[in-house]
Amino acid sequence: MTASKILLLIIDGVGDRPCACFGGKTPLQAASIPNLDRLAADGICGIMDPVAPGIRAGSDTAHLSLLGYEPQKYYTGRGPLEAAGVGIAMKPGMIGFRANYSTVDDDGLVIDRRAGRIEDTTEISRAVKEGVDLSKYGVTIEFEPGTGHRAALALKGDGLSAAVSTNDPKKTGVAPLVIVPEDDTPEAKRTAEICNEFSRQAYEILKNHPVNLARKAEGKNPANVVLIRGAGEMGVYETFEEKHELSGSVVASAALIAGIGSSVGLERIPVLPSTPLDEQVQLVLKQFETKDFVLFNIKNADEYGHDGKAEEKKAFLEKIDAAILPFLERTDIMIAVCGDHSTPCSVKDHSADPVPLIIRGDGCRVDNVSAYDEISCAAGAMCRISGAYLMPVLLDLIDKTHKYGA
Ligand code: ZN
Ligand code: ZN
Repeated sequence: MTASKILLLIIDGVGDRPCACFGGKTPLQAASIPNLDRLAADGICGIMDPVAPGIRAGSDTAHLSLLGYEPQKYYTGRGPLEAAGVGIAMKPGMIGFRANYSTVDDDGLVIDRRAGRIEDTTEISRAVKEGVDLSKYGVTIEFEPGTGHRAALALKGDGLSAAVSTNDPKKTGVAPLVIVPEDDTPEAKRTAEICNEFSRQAYEILKNHPVNLARKAEGKNPANVVLIRGAGEMGVYETFEEKHELSGSVVASAALIAGIGSSVGLERIPVLPSTPLDEQVQLVLKQFETKDFVLFNIKNADEYGHDGKAEEKKAFLEKIDAAILPFLERTDIMIAVCGDHSTPCSVKDHSADPVPLIIRGDGCRVDNVSAYDEISCAAGAMCRISGAYLMPVLLDLIDKTHKYGA
């Protein structure tokens, strides 16, 4: 028997470098992860450069690469992907932005960039979406809440450009910035004006909105200003199904990753960062009742890497290990476990260190590696591959590739 489906399990930021607190081991080497080790023992291992050797990939460019979409060709910035990730139906040409609710005081100065850690912006986001009127520019908006203080904005209309700056001053005690064009085109000038008008109208809607008046009465900071950044024009993506002849879903608590999945036509299965991992695992397994492929991204290891918290990263890897137990018995699914990049605790950012890779499923070769970590996997029979080859390799292992030549 040969496995017939593919699970791409991406442990975000999994790779690391030696940590002093583990006597020079990486968090993966120090962690007790019997289930991942079992997968390694039963499959073939290697290391992978998500984009290319020496390229310090973002989560977005890395995920595109691993899904088979060369980021050099497809990537147009984070904004449109975040917008797709919160459920906006992004079409080619729309301009997407990441958005944050923040608080400005009566003098118009930003005093809280997370708007009192507001948790639910559904109602005020609807008010913004329905209340902002840009019809005099021939432009309509989409605006949807994300998790916490996050949201996303998209502009739809002719004559728009993504070459505009941000209104986010990235610090407190100053007013939101005026958005300016970043090139000399009339489209950029016009779009900057539209963005400033959006900000102005959003503030008018938010400042006396009942949700914010109630927050003030409770002594909480109101979410009265929308800061937008990361402008990008939605690109043209051939669908995952057209490209790989597989139907699929994406299970990812990070809007950026969910957005990448939905941009290439994977069905977005909404999960929150707070959704327990074992529930996420069950959601993934449920997808395989009807789908051929699931992209499953687990986020937090990356965040511990960014914070330089090696102990917490190790503990979280152990939590992931426990949660993925149900995958072990599904040998009918070709499982690839990898990272989208390394996030070393010593660097507190992404590095270009290759990530460890396991592929395991019925019909797949088995090598001598029996531990999932950066060094053990490097001795595996998959050797070192580029992320662009991951999908072709997986497709071949489930006998779905077309023969090249006679
Ligand atoms: Zn990442
Ligand atoms: Zn990161």
